[in-house]
Amino acid sequence: MGDKTVSDEMQMYSHVFSVLGKCTDDYLFVLDLQNNRYMISDSATKIFPFEATEMSNAFKALESIVYPQDYPMLEQNLQDIITGRSTEHDMEYRWVGRNGKPVWISCRGQVVNDADGKPEFLIGRITDIGKKSKIDGVTGLYREHSLKNQLRRMSEEDRLEGYLLQIGIDNFKEINEKCGSEVGNEVLLNMAECIKKVVGDTGKVYRMGGDEMAILVPGIFHEKKEDPAKALYKKIRDKIDQIFSEGGHMIYFTISAGSVYFHKEDRDVGKLIEYVGFALHQAKISGKNNCMRYSYAVYEEYVHALDVQEELRKDIENDFQGFELYYQPVVNIAKKKILGAEALIRWHSKKFGFMSPGQFIPMLEETGLIIPLGRWITRTAIQQCVKWQKVVPGFRMNVNLSFVQIKKSNALQDILFLIDTLNVDKSVLMIEVTESGEIESGVAARVLRSFKDESIPLAIDDFGTGYSNLRYVKDMTFDLVKIDQSFIRNITHSKYDYLVVKQFTELAHSLNLTVCYEGVETEEDFKCVLGLKPDYIQGYYFSRPVPAEEFEQKCLDQPVVF
Ligand code: C2E
Ligand code: CA
Ligand code: CA
Repeated sequence: MGDKTVSDEMQMYSHVFSVLGKCTDDYLFVLDLQNNRYMISDSATKIFPFEATEMSNAFKALESIVYPQDYPMLEQNLQDIITGRSTEHDMEYRWVGRNGKPVWISCRGQVVNDADGKPEFLIGRITDIGKKSKIDGVTGLYREHSLKNQLRRMSEEDRLEGYLLQIGIDNFKEINEKCGSEVGNEVLLNMAECIKKVVGDTGKVYRMGGDEMAILVPGIFHEKKEDPAKALYKKIRDKIDQIFSEGGHMIYFTISAGSVYFHKEDRDVGKLIEYVGFALHQAKISGKNNCMRYSYAVYEEYVHALDVQEELRKDIENDFQGFELYYQPVVNIAKKKILGAEALIRWHSKKFGFMSPGQFIPMLEETGLIIPLGRWITRTAIQQCVKWQKVVPGFRMNVNLSFVQIKKSNALQDILFLIDTLNVDKSVLMIEVTESGEIESGVAARVLRSFKDESIPLAIDDFGTGYSNLRYVKDMTFDLVKIDQSFIRNITHSKYDYLVVKQFTELAHSLNLTVCYEGVETEEDFKCVLGLKPDYIQGYYFSRPVPAEEFEQKCLDQPVVF
C-alpha cells in the first residue's frame, strides 16, 4: 500500500469521523497498524493532550496519553494484534487528561485485515467510562448493577456456582474526613488495584457502595476442606500491607470482609448481595480486620431482632401500647411488712406475644428507645406509688434505670420534674442501677453523684456480679445493696455462697448500708437467709411480680407472717 492510498483512506475516514463524531459522546479512532498512524475524533483532542486529530507516530502519541502504569498492558495487547495472536481489543485503562488527571476509558476495537489477511487497521470507539453509570469513575471497576447482571446471567445459564467476597475499608470515613476526599479516592483506587492484582483472572472485581468492593469468583468449592474466600481475603490483606511497607500507599488502612458461597439452587441473586453485605457488617461489628462467612442462623436472628425493634418502636409511639408495669413486693424484715415494691416492665406484643425483659431491654438500649419508655416507666411508677402511699404511708417504689438512660438522657431532670409536678417527696423513689465498671468513672459516675446531691435514694443492683467493691459503693453514697440472685439460688447447698452473702451483709452493715436479698424462692431459702439479717427480702417466696390490681389485692397492706 503506497503513501497516497493511506492518505486517501485516512482522509475518507476523517470525513466519516467528523460526521459520526457529532452523533456520539464516544471518541472514534483508527489505528493504522502497518503505517503506525493514528486518528481520533476531534472531541478527544479537547479533553486529552493530542497534538492533532491525525498523528503519524501512533505508538508515541498513545504512550504520551496513556497513564504510565497502564501503558505496558496496552502495548502488549497491540503487539498481540499486530502479530495476529489476538483479534480482539476490549480494554479498560486510563488516559491522562489535559488537566493532568487520569480518566478511565473503555476502548473497544475491531481488527480489519488487508487483502493478504494481515492486520491492517484497528477501528473502534473509546468511552469515557467515568461518565457512564456502568463503571465507577474513581476505581474503574464495574458497579454493583453489573454484578447483579452477571449473577443473573450465571443463574439463567445454570452455572451459578462460586462465592462472593465483599471487602470494606475499616474506618474509611475517618480517612475521608481527616485527609479529604481526594486522598480517600486514592485509597479506594489503591485498594481496587491491589484486589485486581491478587484476583487476576480467577474472578471479577466490582465497586459496591461507599468504600466496599466485591469479588465474584466462579467455581465449585468443597466447603468443608478449606475456605477459599477467607484465603483470598488474607492474600489481599497481605498485599495491601506489603504495598504500604514498600511505600506504595500514603495511608495505612485495614480491611474487613464478608463472604457467601452460592449454588445453582440459589435463585434470588439480589439476596446473595444482601447476605454478603450482612457478613461484612458482622465482620465489622466483631472487631474489624477480619473475614466472616455468611451464616443463615445469624442472619435470621438479626432480621428477627430488627422486626422486634420495629414492633417496640411502633408500640412506644402508639402510646406505649402493650407495655405494663408489674410490681414485686419488697419485704421489710424488721417491720415484717411490705413497705415497697420494685417496678418491672412487661411487654405483650401483638406480633410476638409475651417477651421477657431480658430479651427486649437490650434492644431498647441499643436503639435508645429505653429513653422514652423509661420516662413512661418512672411516671407510671411514681403515680402508682402516690396512690399506694394513701393506704400504706411511706410506701416506696424501686425503679430500674439502665446506663443508656443515665448517660444519654437527662434522667435526673426528668425525675425531678415528675416529682415536682406530682408534688411528691423524693423519698418515694429508689433508683436501681446495675453494678458495672461504668459506674466508677466518667459520665455515669458524675450523673450518679448528682442524683445523690439531689437526695434521690440509690440502690446498687445485682451486687457481686460486676467489679465494684463495697468501699466504692459506700463512697458513691448508695443507700441500698441488692445482692445478686445468683448467690441466693444455691445458698442452701453452697457453703461458699452462704459465706459470701454473710460477708457482704456484715461489711455493708458496718458501712451503714442497707441490704436486700433478691431471688428468695422457697421457704428453705427464706429460713436460711433470715439468720443473715438482711434489711429487705424480695422473691417468689413472697410473690412474683404482679399487675397493679393483683398487687393491691394480695400484697398491699397485707400482713407478712414469719
Ligand atoms: P432485676 O432488676 O435484677 O430484676 C429482678 C428480676 O428477678 C426480675 O426479672 C424478677 O422478675 C426476677 N425475680 C424476682 N424474684 C425472683 C425469684 O425469686 N426467682 C427468680 N428466679 N427470679 C426472680 P424480670 O422482671 O424478668 O427483669 C429482668 C431484668 O430486666 C431486671 O433485673 C432489670 O435489669 C431489667 N428490667 C426490668 N424492668 C425494667 C425497667 O423498668 N427498666 C429497666 N431499665 N430495666 C428493667
Ligand atoms: Ca432491679
Ligand atoms: Ca437484681
